[in-house]
Amino acid sequence: MLLRTLDYEEAFHCLAGDCPHSCCVGWEVVLDDTHAERYLAGDDPLNRRAAEAMVYDEGEDAFSLLLRGGRCPFLDAENLCELHRAWGPEATPLICQTHPRFTEDYGAFCERALSAACPAANALLLGSREPLGFRESETGEPGEEGDPWLPFLLPFRRRLFAVLQDRSRPLRARLEEFLILCLLGDSVLADAEREGGAPEGLLTVSGSVTVGDLPEEGIFPAGLRLLASLEVLEPDWPELLRAAGTVEAAPQDEALLERVAVYFAYRSILKCVNDGDLLGRGLYTVLLTLAAERIAAVCGLSEALRRLSREVEHDQENGEALLSAFRKDADFSVGRFLRELRG
Ligand code: SF4
Repeated sequence: MLLRTLDYEEAFHCLAGDCPHSCCVGWEVVLDDTHAERYLAGDDPLNRRAAEAMVYDEGEDAFSLLLRGGRCPFLDAENLCELHRAWGPEATPLICQTHPRFTEDYGAFCERALSAACPAANALLLGSREPLGFRESETGEPGEEGDPWLPFLLPFRRRLFAVLQDRSRPLRARLEEFLILCLLGDSVLADAEREGGAPEGLLTVSGSVTVGDLPEEGIFPAGLRLLASLEVLEPDWPELLRAAGTVEAAPQDEALLERVAVYFAYRSILKCVNDGDLLGRGLYTVLLTLAAERIAAVCGLSEALRRLSREVEHDQENGEALLSAFRKDADFSVGRFLRELRG
Protein backbone atom coordinates (compact mmCIF):
# COMPACT_ATOMS: atom_id res chain seq x y z
CA MET A 1 0.00 0.00 0.00
CA LEU A 2 1.21 3.48 -0.79
CA LEU A 3 1.89 5.71 2.21
CA ARG A 4 2.04 9.49 1.78
CA THR A 5 3.71 11.59 4.49
CA LEU A 6 4.82 15.16 5.03
CA ASP A 7 8.31 15.71 3.64
CA TYR A 8 9.79 16.45 7.09
CA GLU A 9 8.46 13.38 8.89
CA GLU A 10 11.80 11.55 8.94
CA ALA A 11 13.36 14.47 10.83
CA PHE A 12 10.84 14.14 13.68
CA HIS A 13 12.14 13.17 17.10
CA CYS A 14 10.06 13.29 20.27
CA LEU A 15 11.49 15.75 22.79
CA ALA A 16 10.50 13.37 25.62
CA GLY A 17 11.52 14.83 29.00
CA ASP A 18 12.51 18.14 27.41
CA CYS A 19 9.12 18.75 25.81
CA PRO A 20 7.57 22.07 26.92
CA HIS A 21 4.03 20.85 26.15
CA SER A 22 4.20 17.12 26.71
CA CYS A 23 1.33 15.06 25.32
CA CYS A 24 1.54 13.12 28.62
CA VAL A 25 0.19 16.18 30.49
CA GLY A 26 -3.39 17.33 30.12
CA TRP A 27 -4.32 14.72 27.49
CA GLU A 28 -6.64 11.80 28.06
CA VAL A 29 -4.76 8.49 27.61
CA VAL A 30 -7.29 6.15 26.00
CA LEU A 31 -6.16 2.52 26.07
CA ASP A 32 -6.45 0.11 23.17
CA ASP A 33 -7.85 -3.34 24.10
CA THR A 34 -4.52 -5.15 23.71
CA HIS A 35 -2.69 -2.94 26.18
CA ALA A 36 -5.63 -2.73 28.58
CA GLU A 37 -5.71 -6.54 28.71
CA ARG A 38 -1.93 -6.71 29.16
CA TYR A 39 -2.00 -4.31 32.11
CA LEU A 40 -4.84 -6.20 33.77
CA ALA A 41 -3.26 -9.62 33.25
CA GLY A 42 0.12 -9.26 34.99
CA ASP A 43 0.97 -9.20 38.70
CA ASP A 44 3.95 -6.85 38.51
CA PRO A 45 3.76 -3.66 40.66
CA LEU A 46 3.48 -1.66 37.42
CA ASN A 47 0.59 -3.84 36.29
CA ARG A 48 -1.15 -3.28 39.58
CA ARG A 49 -0.64 0.49 39.35
CA ALA A 50 -1.99 0.45 35.79
CA ALA A 51 -5.03 -1.55 36.82
CA GLU A 52 -5.73 0.90 39.67
CA ALA A 53 -5.44 3.87 37.28
CA MET A 54 -7.74 2.41 34.63
CA VAL A 55 -11.27 3.77 34.39
CA TYR A 56 -13.90 2.83 31.87
CA ASP A 57 -14.76 5.74 29.58
CA GLU A 58 -18.35 5.40 28.33
CA GLY A 59 -17.86 8.00 25.60
CA GLU A 60 -14.82 6.25 24.16
CA ASP A 61 -16.14 2.75 24.94
CA ALA A 62 -12.66 1.93 26.23
CA PHE A 63 -10.49 2.16 29.32
CA SER A 64 -8.40 5.25 29.90
CA LEU A 65 -5.78 6.12 32.50
CA LEU A 66 -6.94 8.41 35.28
CA LEU A 67 -4.63 11.43 35.24
CA ARG A 68 -2.91 12.52 38.47
CA GLY A 69 -2.73 16.28 38.80
CA GLY A 70 -3.38 16.47 35.06
CA ARG A 71 -0.43 14.16 34.31
CA CYS A 72 -0.31 10.60 33.05
CA PRO A 73 0.16 8.46 36.19
CA PHE A 74 3.24 6.90 34.60
CA LEU A 75 5.02 10.16 33.89
CA ASP A 76 7.92 10.36 36.32
CA ALA A 77 9.62 13.40 37.89
CA GLU A 78 11.86 13.76 34.79
CA ASN A 79 8.83 13.73 32.51
CA LEU A 80 9.73 10.30 31.19
CA CYS A 81 7.41 7.31 30.88
CA GLU A 82 7.84 4.59 33.51
CA LEU A 83 6.19 1.97 31.30
CA HIS A 84 8.59 2.81 28.47
CA ARG A 85 11.59 2.68 30.81
CA ALA A 86 10.63 -0.62 32.43
CA TRP A 87 9.16 -2.59 29.54
CA GLY A 88 10.16 -0.77 26.32
CA PRO A 89 8.21 1.37 23.85
CA GLU A 90 5.90 -1.42 22.69
CA ALA A 91 4.51 -1.70 26.23
CA THR A 92 3.11 1.82 26.08
CA PRO A 93 -0.49 2.23 24.86
CA LEU A 94 -0.92 2.39 21.09
CA ILE A 95 -1.97 6.03 21.32
CA CYS A 96 1.41 6.87 22.92
CA GLN A 97 3.30 4.89 20.27
CA THR A 98 1.55 6.66 17.40
CA HIS A 99 1.18 10.25 18.71
CA PRO A 100 1.68 12.81 17.13
CA ARG A 101 0.90 10.92 13.91
CA PHE A 102 -2.54 11.25 12.35
CA THR A 103 -3.14 8.42 9.85
CA GLU A 104 -6.00 8.34 7.37
CA ASP A 105 -6.66 5.05 5.58
CA TYR A 106 -8.24 5.55 2.15
CA GLY A 107 -8.16 1.84 1.27
CA ALA A 108 -5.89 2.09 -1.76
CA PHE A 109 -3.40 4.28 0.14
CA CYS A 110 -2.75 5.87 3.53
CA GLU A 111 -1.85 9.44 4.41
CA ARG A 112 0.01 10.43 7.55
CA ALA A 113 0.65 13.81 9.10
CA LEU A 114 2.39 14.95 12.25
CA SER A 115 0.11 16.97 14.50
CA ALA A 116 1.10 20.62 14.75
CA ALA A 117 0.00 20.43 18.41
CA CYS A 118 3.28 18.61 19.11
CA PRO A 119 6.08 21.14 19.66
CA ALA A 120 8.66 19.04 17.80
CA ALA A 121 6.38 18.56 14.76
CA ASN A 122 5.27 22.19 14.92
CA ALA A 123 8.92 23.31 14.80
CA LEU A 124 9.51 21.21 11.68
CA LEU A 125 6.43 22.63 9.92
CA LEU A 126 7.41 26.21 10.70
CA GLY A 127 11.15 25.62 10.51
CA SER A 128 11.34 25.98 6.75
CA ARG A 129 10.13 28.54 4.21
CA GLU A 130 10.19 26.02 1.36
CA PRO A 131 6.86 24.97 -0.14
CA LEU A 132 5.52 22.05 1.93
CA GLY A 133 6.07 18.77 0.11
CA PHE A 134 5.18 15.11 0.51
CA ARG A 135 6.96 11.77 0.34
CA GLU A 136 5.53 8.52 -0.93
CA SER A 137 6.67 5.02 0.00
CA GLU A 138 5.36 1.45 -0.17
CA THR A 139 4.39 -0.19 3.11
CA GLY A 140 4.36 -3.70 1.69
CA GLU A 141 0.87 -4.24 3.11
CA PRO A 142 -1.94 -5.09 0.71
CA GLY A 143 -4.24 -2.18 -0.14
CA GLU A 144 -7.94 -2.33 -0.89
CA GLU A 145 -9.95 -0.83 -3.66
CA GLY A 146 -10.40 2.85 -2.88
CA ASP A 147 -13.46 5.03 -3.29
CA PRO A 148 -14.22 5.71 -7.00
CA TRP A 149 -14.07 9.47 -6.29
CA LEU A 150 -10.40 9.31 -5.27
CA PRO A 151 -8.88 9.22 -8.80
CA PHE A 152 -10.61 12.57 -9.38
CA LEU A 153 -10.12 14.09 -5.95
CA LEU A 154 -6.36 13.46 -5.89
CA PRO A 155 -5.47 15.51 -9.00
CA PHE A 156 -7.98 18.14 -7.89
CA ARG A 157 -6.22 18.41 -4.54
CA ARG A 158 -2.83 18.66 -6.30
CA ARG A 159 -4.26 21.64 -8.16
CA LEU A 160 -5.41 23.18 -4.87
CA PHE A 161 -1.90 22.76 -3.45
CA ALA A 162 -0.42 24.37 -6.59
CA VAL A 163 -2.77 27.34 -6.19
CA LEU A 164 -1.83 27.76 -2.50
CA GLN A 165 1.89 27.52 -3.34
CA ASP A 166 1.88 29.95 -6.28
CA ARG A 167 4.18 32.54 -4.71
CA SER A 168 3.83 34.96 -7.62
CA ARG A 169 0.66 36.22 -5.90
CA PRO A 170 -0.25 37.39 -2.37
CA LEU A 171 -1.44 34.56 -0.12
CA ARG A 172 -4.92 36.06 0.29
CA ALA A 173 -5.46 35.97 -3.50
CA ARG A 174 -4.34 32.33 -3.50
CA LEU A 175 -6.70 31.48 -0.63
CA GLU A 176 -9.52 33.12 -2.58
CA GLU A 177 -8.87 31.01 -5.68
CA PHE A 178 -8.50 27.94 -3.47
CA LEU A 179 -11.91 28.65 -1.93
CA ILE A 180 -13.62 29.25 -5.28
CA LEU A 181 -12.21 25.99 -6.63
CA CYS A 182 -13.57 24.21 -3.55
CA LEU A 183 -16.97 25.84 -4.14
CA LEU A 184 -17.02 24.71 -7.78
CA GLY A 185 -15.67 21.27 -6.94
CA ASP A 186 -18.32 20.88 -4.25
CA SER A 187 -21.08 21.27 -6.83
CA VAL A 188 -19.36 18.70 -9.10
CA LEU A 189 -19.42 16.24 -6.18
CA ALA A 190 -23.10 17.04 -5.47
CA ASP A 191 -23.95 16.29 -9.12
CA ALA A 192 -21.97 13.06 -9.02
CA GLU A 193 -23.76 12.06 -5.82
CA ARG A 194 -27.17 12.82 -7.30
CA GLU A 195 -26.56 11.15 -10.65
CA GLY A 196 -24.45 8.29 -9.35
CA GLY A 197 -21.59 8.98 -11.78
CA ALA A 198 -17.92 9.84 -11.37
CA PRO A 199 -16.95 13.47 -10.56
CA GLU A 200 -15.00 13.85 -13.82
CA GLY A 201 -15.75 17.58 -13.81
CA LEU A 202 -13.15 17.97 -11.04
CA LEU A 203 -10.46 17.53 -13.69
CA THR A 204 -11.56 20.55 -15.72
CA VAL A 205 -13.29 22.79 -13.19
CA SER A 206 -12.77 26.49 -13.98
CA GLY A 207 -11.23 28.77 -11.39
CA SER A 208 -13.69 31.65 -11.64
CA VAL A 209 -17.20 32.22 -10.37
CA THR A 210 -19.54 35.20 -10.35
CA VAL A 211 -20.23 36.38 -6.84
CA GLY A 212 -22.72 39.20 -6.34
CA ASP A 213 -22.19 42.11 -3.97
CA LEU A 214 -20.10 40.96 -1.07
CA PRO A 215 -21.28 41.54 2.50
CA GLU A 216 -19.61 44.35 4.41
CA GLU A 217 -18.22 42.13 7.12
CA GLY A 218 -15.71 39.33 6.89
CA ILE A 219 -15.51 36.25 9.11
CA PHE A 220 -13.84 38.00 12.06
CA PRO A 221 -14.47 38.50 14.91
CA ALA A 222 -17.25 35.90 14.46
CA GLY A 223 -14.61 33.27 13.59
CA LEU A 224 -12.91 33.71 16.96
CA ARG A 225 -16.28 33.52 18.76
CA LEU A 226 -17.04 30.31 16.87
CA LEU A 227 -13.73 28.78 17.97
CA ALA A 228 -14.43 29.89 21.56
CA SER A 229 -17.85 28.19 21.45
CA LEU A 230 -16.31 24.75 20.86
CA GLU A 231 -15.45 22.29 23.59
CA VAL A 232 -12.39 23.70 25.39
CA LEU A 233 -9.42 21.39 25.91
CA GLU A 234 -6.98 23.82 27.57
CA PRO A 235 -8.68 26.22 30.02
CA ASP A 236 -6.94 29.42 28.87
CA TRP A 237 -7.97 28.94 25.22
CA PRO A 238 -11.08 31.21 25.40
CA GLU A 239 -8.97 33.97 26.96
CA LEU A 240 -6.37 33.67 24.19
CA LEU A 241 -9.14 33.95 21.58
CA ARG A 242 -10.63 36.94 23.39
CA ALA A 243 -7.23 38.64 23.43
CA ALA A 244 -6.80 37.91 19.70
CA GLY A 245 -10.09 39.70 19.08
CA THR A 246 -8.84 42.88 20.75
CA VAL A 247 -5.56 43.38 18.85
CA GLU A 248 -4.83 44.25 15.24
CA ALA A 249 -3.88 41.24 13.14
CA ALA A 250 -0.10 41.38 12.64
CA PRO A 251 1.12 40.33 9.18
CA GLN A 252 2.98 37.02 9.34
CA ASP A 253 5.64 35.57 7.06
CA GLU A 254 3.56 34.50 4.03
CA ALA A 255 5.79 31.52 3.28
CA LEU A 256 5.10 30.12 6.75
CA LEU A 257 1.40 30.91 6.62
CA GLU A 258 1.26 29.17 3.24
CA ARG A 259 2.78 26.05 4.86
CA VAL A 260 0.08 26.27 7.54
CA ALA A 261 -2.64 26.47 4.84
CA VAL A 262 -1.21 23.49 2.92
CA TYR A 263 -0.94 21.52 6.19
CA PHE A 264 -4.62 22.10 7.02
CA ALA A 265 -5.63 21.38 3.40
CA TYR A 266 -3.64 18.12 3.44
CA ARG A 267 -5.29 17.15 6.71
CA SER A 268 -8.83 17.95 5.63
CA ILE A 269 -9.63 18.16 1.90
CA LEU A 270 -9.60 14.46 1.01
CA LYS A 271 -11.99 13.60 3.85
CA CYS A 272 -14.79 14.94 1.66
CA VAL A 273 -14.67 11.52 -0.01
CA ASN A 274 -16.82 10.39 2.94
CA ASP A 275 -19.55 13.03 2.83
CA GLY A 276 -19.09 15.21 -0.27
CA ASP A 277 -18.46 18.32 1.84
CA LEU A 278 -15.54 19.72 -0.15
CA LEU A 279 -16.59 23.33 0.38
CA GLY A 280 -16.72 22.79 4.16
CA ARG A 281 -13.12 21.48 4.12
CA GLY A 282 -12.04 24.49 2.05
CA LEU A 283 -13.69 26.90 4.51
CA TYR A 284 -12.12 24.96 7.40
CA THR A 285 -8.66 25.37 5.84
CA VAL A 286 -9.11 29.10 5.28
CA LEU A 287 -10.65 29.78 8.70
CA LEU A 288 -7.88 27.98 10.57
CA THR A 289 -5.14 29.63 8.48
CA LEU A 290 -6.53 33.14 9.03
CA ALA A 291 -7.27 32.39 12.70
CA ALA A 292 -3.62 31.29 13.14
CA GLU A 293 -2.55 34.63 11.68
CA ARG A 294 -4.80 36.59 14.06
CA ILE A 295 -3.95 34.60 17.18
CA ALA A 296 -0.26 34.90 16.26
CA ALA A 297 -0.51 38.62 16.97
CA VAL A 298 -0.91 37.67 20.66
CA CYS A 299 1.38 34.67 21.06
CA GLY A 300 3.38 34.13 17.86
CA LEU A 301 2.60 31.86 14.92
CA SER A 302 4.06 28.67 16.36
CA GLU A 303 2.01 28.88 19.56
CA ALA A 304 -1.13 29.98 17.66
CA LEU A 305 -0.84 26.95 15.39
CA ARG A 306 -0.12 24.60 18.29
CA ARG A 307 -3.20 25.77 20.15
CA LEU A 308 -5.47 25.61 17.08
CA SER A 309 -4.30 22.10 16.27
CA ARG A 310 -4.77 21.01 19.90
CA GLU A 311 -8.28 22.45 20.21
CA VAL A 312 -9.65 21.61 16.75
CA GLU A 313 -7.66 18.77 15.22
CA HIS A 314 -7.62 16.64 18.37
CA ASP A 315 -11.33 16.86 19.04
CA GLN A 316 -13.40 15.30 16.29
CA GLU A 317 -16.59 16.90 17.60
CA ASN A 318 -14.99 20.35 17.38
CA GLY A 319 -13.99 19.75 13.76
CA GLU A 320 -17.53 18.61 12.96
CA ALA A 321 -19.01 21.63 14.76
CA LEU A 322 -17.02 23.91 12.45
CA LEU A 323 -18.31 22.13 9.33
CA SER A 324 -21.84 22.37 10.71
CA ALA A 325 -21.47 26.12 11.39
CA PHE A 326 -20.28 26.69 7.81
CA ARG A 327 -23.45 25.02 6.51
CA LYS A 328 -25.90 26.83 8.80
CA ASP A 329 -24.49 30.12 10.02
CA ALA A 330 -24.73 33.20 7.78
CA ASP A 331 -21.59 34.61 9.47
CA PHE A 332 -19.62 31.96 7.59
CA SER A 333 -21.07 32.23 4.10
CA VAL A 334 -18.66 32.09 1.15
CA GLY A 335 -19.34 35.81 0.65
CA ARG A 336 -18.15 36.58 4.19
CA PHE A 337 -14.97 34.56 3.56
CA LEU A 338 -14.34 36.40 0.28
CA ARG A 339 -14.88 39.75 1.99
CA GLU A 340 -12.34 38.74 4.64
CA LEU A 341 -9.80 37.76 2.00
CA ARG A 342 -10.32 40.89 -0.10
CA GLY A 343 -10.16 43.22 2.90
S1 SF4 B 1 4.14 16.49 22.40
FE1 SF4 B 1 5.53 15.64 20.79
S2 SF4 B 1 7.62 16.14 21.46
FE2 SF4 B 1 6.25 16.43 23.24
S3 SF4 B 1 6.31 14.49 24.37
FE3 SF4 B 1 4.55 14.35 22.94
S4 SF4 B 1 5.33 13.43 21.01
FE4 SF4 B 1 7.12 14.09 22.26
